[in-house]
Amino acid sequence: MKATRKPTHLRVDPIGCRAHGLCQELLPELVSLDEWGYPLLAEKAIPRDLMAHARRAAAACPTLALRLRKED
Ligand code: SF4
Repeated sequence: MKATRKPTHLRVDPIGCRAHGLCQELLPELVSLDEWGYPLLAEKAIPRDLMAHARRAAAACPTLALRLRKED
């Protein structure tokens, strides 16, 4: 039986996020910032061609508040 892959989305922990804005600099295709510098994430699943950039942005988050999560 073939395993079905759930799409991967960006998620942010609003408590952990310190509004550094680094994620927006690294992944402007999927992240914008609100007026206080907190990230506004695209609702759509991370496209395949941006997955490496998304992983890099999550790894670079100073507070590890940005995560990649597989969900429907
Ligand atoms: S890099 Fe991390 S702490 Fe900074 S705005 Fe993005 S999610 Fe928040």
